[in-house]
Amino acid sequence: MGGAGVDAGAYPGPAVAGKAVAGMGQALPKVGIVGCGLVGSTIAYTMLLRGPRADMVLVDVNRAKAEGDAMDLNHGMPLASPRAIVAGGYEQLQGADVVVVAAGVNQRPGETRLDLLRRNVAVMREVVSHIQAHAPQAILLVVTNPVDVLSYVAFRASGLPASRVIGSGTLLDTLRLRYLLGQHFGVDPRSVHAYILGEHGDSEFAAWSLANIAGVRLAELAAGQEEALQRELDRILQEVRTAAYAIIQRKGATYYAVAMAVCRILESILYDEASVLTVSTLVDGHYGLSDVYLGLPCVVGREGVRRVVELPLAPEELQALKRSAAVLQQAIREVTG
Ligand code: NAD
Repeated sequence: MGGAGVDAGAYPGPAVAGKAVAGMGQALPKVGIVGCGLVGSTIAYTMLLRGPRADMVLVDVNRAKAEGDAMDLNHGMPLASPRAIVAGGYEQLQGADVVVVAAGVNQRPGETRLDLLRRNVAVMREVVSHIQAHAPQAILLVVTNPVDVLSYVAFRASGLPASRVIGSGTLLDTLRLRYLLGQHFGVDPRSVHAYILGEHGDSEFAAWSLANIAGVRLAELAAGQEEALQRELDRILQEVRTAAYAIIQRKGATYYAVAMAVCRILESILYDEASVLTVSTLVDGHYGLSDVYLGLPCVVGREGVRRVVELPLAPEELQALKRSAAVLQQAIREVTG
């Protein structure tokens, strides 16, 4: 490993994020992960296993946890492709291409939803100010919940253009929808084209009018059995909406699929793929809405969100999008007003 410029505050000493690994060619891109709890550390592990290949800097208020994760991940390096993985302070984020924010605080006994939200807004503002001090050029990728509200807070706190502040949005929900539709229709979920839009939360909805498999709309796939299909789609949407509750009830948290979703977004950014992903973005005039972050299909590339793909939504879907925006605008007013 290249040993130049070692920062005494970083673990492990010899690995310097953002520098080329000796003998391995070009410098790799650099990704920071702030918040190395279940979600942040699983994102790091998923990156190591499936990519994108990038140097990683792990930052957490619990420094020991970030250091332990860096050690543990580095020990898998002989079975992965070389890169630098370090734990350190915010100064280690210098030169980062993307910083993922998965830092958050958990509900205290008796704490209201609003009080918890306010504490997480404070965490987001603090984290963003540290990132801006050391990596003002980095794209911010927000994962902490409620992701749409906190992405908006990060956007306002950072002063970055909206294209460079992205929330993981309804990508996870969209993956859940595609998985369940794949199960129902007996096809590979990668061949299912369907989107969950709006809030990553209770008011999210499925754009059923556009959902298709190989270009064939779902209603056409179930011709003559429309009522049975509708019942099944209602059940699937309900399962998507309640998936996090169902998992949390069983094991306390969700982290595997969200980590894969975040790695997919990172891939599209770092490899400039221009993939269409349902991330949370600033809505600025689309569908007659403005000044709110919510999940919409966006073209994601090296500069962040390149553009929002406006869908020809059915009237009831447009109404659902507006309801979702109203829920989020109310939440933003509650915490920022
Ligand atoms: P966790 O409690 O395991 O981890 C949170 C981490 O944040 C901890 O390591 C903590 O030390 C750190 N932290 C707290 N305050 C900090 C600060 N000021 N600076 C730096 N680090 C700080 O929680 P988790 O299960 O990893 O979940 C993290 C967040 O991700 C939660 O808000 C959760 O709801 C959210 N989440 C989002 C999605 C999504 O689809 N967007 C999916 C699952 C979880």
